[in-house]
Amino acid sequence: MIIPKEDRLTNEQLREVTAIVEEFGCRIQVIVGTHRSVYAILGDERSELLISRIEGLTYIDRVDTIQSPHKLMDIRSDLASHRIRIGGITLGEEPLFIAGPCTIDPREPNLFYETAHAVKEAGAHVLRGGVWKPRTTPHSFQGDIHSLDILMEASRRTGLPVNTEVMEEVHLRAALEAGVSMLQVGTRNALNYSLLRKVGELSGPKEIRVLLKRGRHMGPPDEFIAAAEYLAAAGNPNVLLCPRGTMPALEGFRNHPDESITPLLRERTWAPVVVDPSHSVGKSVYVPACALAAMVYGADGLCIETHVDSRRGIGDDPKQAISPETLGKIIEDARRLWTLRARYGDGPRVKEPAVPGGVRPAP
Ligand code: PEP
Ligand code: MN
Repeated sequence: MIIPKEDRLTNEQLREVTAIVEEFGCRIQVIVGTHRSVYAILGDERSELLISRIEGLTYIDRVDTIQSPHKLMDIRSDLASHRIRIGGITLGEEPLFIAGPCTIDPREPNLFYETAHAVKEAGAHVLRGGVWKPRTTPHSFQGDIHSLDILMEASRRTGLPVNTEVMEEVHLRAALEAGVSMLQVGTRNALNYSLLRKVGELSGPKEIRVLLKRGRHMGPPDEFIAAAEYLAAAGNPNVLLCPRGTMPALEGFRNHPDESITPLLRERTWAPVVVDPSHSVGKSVYVPACALAAMVYGADGLCIETHVDSRRGIGDDPKQAISPETLGKIIEDARRLWTLRARYGDGPRVKEPAVPGGVRPAP
């Protein structure tokens, strides 16, 4: 990773650097951060000659060769000072709340509009709604492109930015063209590296945020962060990590609630952690406890399935969506816990700015 002395390279400097790395069979990926840009060398960057040629340029501070499977997303990366903004807030400065139904019912647009207004009223910053759905059986409702218009109409009516899941390039292009602010990569695609690359490549230039769900099948925290690295390395560092439960080990919960992974992630990566309690536990009655536990564990926000009348919902909504009233209570209590946990030195990350010069000691 190339760190220039100034915040960004000029076009002429970038051309010079690119020409050098290409001599070594590598290429440059520009990653635009809030405060500065960094320049990843894609390919084998370990050549000493390559590093000294680049470091010899007057406008280069250094070449970081962080030995990490996720050097861009690593807490020691120069991108650690990058801040993600959405819905009027900056992640890390206050908790982010994403809410809305699992699935938009294209036959009932008004139910979605009502829910959209209600979650906004309850304090949500981002409206979620599934247009295309990954369903366990091919016989279940798979989503409907018409729901994308309903999603965008709800965004116009409420002024809320919207999040929806994409599973393939066609969805990705349609969602970007429609103007969604946040893309979701779901649990099933969390290790679909070609999709992650495509999402990073097409969404990066537009500064779209990506909510990356933790794979149900994923193991250690590094595997999750490395999946986020695919998005960043392809050009989009605006990644929010979303634990949402792994393979069920407790009979009764839909998945194995994994909000306890939050501090491990926050220790290794600068990416915000936004927990989804709805898919973790899979039943509306368990959602508040899981949501509040996530806040205690240090989450930067929550993504919660919410519906004005869940009995009339489709997809996961009848079983796991909470009411906007419950959402409002969770948001209020989550804010209290946000303040409370700062007493234990685990407050918002903004209080721990990146060390000048970029590299922090390994955690
Ligand atoms: C969803 O958010 O509705 C969804 C299908 O998510 P996940 O990929 O976590 O199952
Ligand atoms: Mn769902």
